Amino acid sequence: MMCPKCAGKTSVIGSVGGLVRERLRRCTKCGYVFPTIEAIKFDVFWKEYLRDISEINKKDFEKRDKQDG
Ligand SMILES: [Zn+2]
Repeated sequence: MMCPKCAGKTSVIGSVGGLVRERLRRCTKCGYVFPTIEAIKFDVFWKEYLRDISEINKKDFEKRDKQDG
C-alpha cells in the first residue's frame, strides 16, 4: 500500500485483529501514519446464498437424470 500523501512506500507498524483487521501504516518517505482495513469480501449471507443455489442445481440435475433414463 502506498502513502496517500506522497505515494511513497509504507510499512505496517501495528494491527488489530478480528473479522475486520485494522492496520496502522507509516510512510517510510514522509513519516505519515494512516490506518487501513482488511475485511472478508464474501460474508456469511453470501455463502448461504451460494449453498442454496447449489442445492437447487443439484435437484435440477436429479430431475434431468430421471427424464433421460
Ligand atoms: Zn508519504
